[in-house]
Amino acid sequence: MYSQIAKWNKVKNHRHLITFITGCILPYDKEKFLKLFDIVFNMADLPKFPEMLRQYGVVSPYSLELSWGREPDSIKDTWHINPHYSSDWQAFIPIQNGCDKFCTYCAVPYTRGREISRPSKEIMDELKTLVDKDYKSITLLGQNVNSYGHDKRGHEISFANLLRQIGEFGKASGKDFWVYFTSPHPRDMTDEVIEVIASYPHLAKQIHLPIQSGDDKVLIRMNRQHNVEKYRRIIHSIWRRIPEATIFTDIIVGFTGETTEQFENTRKIMHEFKYNMAYIAQYSPRPGAASARWADDVPHTEKNDDSISYQMI
Ligand code: SF4
Repeated sequence: MYSQIAKWNKVKNHRHLITFITGCILPYDKEKFLKLFDIVFNMADLPKFPEMLRQYGVVSPYSLELSWGREPDSIKDTWHINPHYSSDWQAFIPIQNGCDKFCTYCAVPYTRGREISRPSKEIMDELKTLVDKDYKSITLLGQNVNSYGHDKRGHEISFANLLRQIGEFGKASGKDFWVYFTSPHPRDMTDEVIEVIASYPHLAKQIHLPIQSGDDKVLIRMNRQHNVEKYRRIIHSIWRRIPEATIFTDIIVGFTGETTEQFENTRKIMHEFKYNMAYIAQYSPRPGAASARWADDVPHTEKNDDSISYQMI
């Protein structure tokens, strides 16, 4: 992001250019980014984006409608924007936004708000359109995909049933495609979800299950709401029902207060769970997230010690 904006700001010397940034932006980040970008906004403010651009004299179909005295169709939310796909075989479908979990290192619940599930009919419509166009790899996206439906209990189907509908559609379609999802939370990973993945060939046998740490005390301080034993039961359930499954995870190294022994517990579970892939991040405090109040006391050189990381895999 920093290298990109430096390039764009140079372009501004000889071309009219408006730069903007969005995503998970905390108030502290907003102040910082406003020094670099013309417009900074949270995803929730996307419907106001045409208005923001209008203040810079940019004419969009939306602002033309306004200037003609007509009420343009407003953008309700990001789910109602027709996506432009950059690939003709791989696509992503947002199914859920926000998070109710409040892990202490994470800004998402503050920047994206609480969990909101997209109507399953819209998800199925988008998926069917993609399959009609011969897309092969489709990923369901959300901060907590497997909490899908929890915010609309009794009015919306569960994540397991959404997968089941996709699996049934796949069987009836006679087409080859694979549906992935990311990211799920171990707390909401039920045997039913694993059973459904095992039952339908169109549901990819690849499960991304972030653990973050292999030490229960660290998991409590992270407020992950699962412990190693619960996570182990899920992995064993996957191995039993889908022996061929590939399993990915996320790990944070050098979380505030992490001891060498706690780090070693993470190394142990890396071996035990035989991950096919892991996204390993060095802990860094996000201003505004709860853990930012605690000392970032694991030295950078130790977090960055890749002689240890290589032995892990
Ligand atoms: S790490 Fe994931 S589960 Fe935890 S607060 Fe952030 S988005 Fe939610």
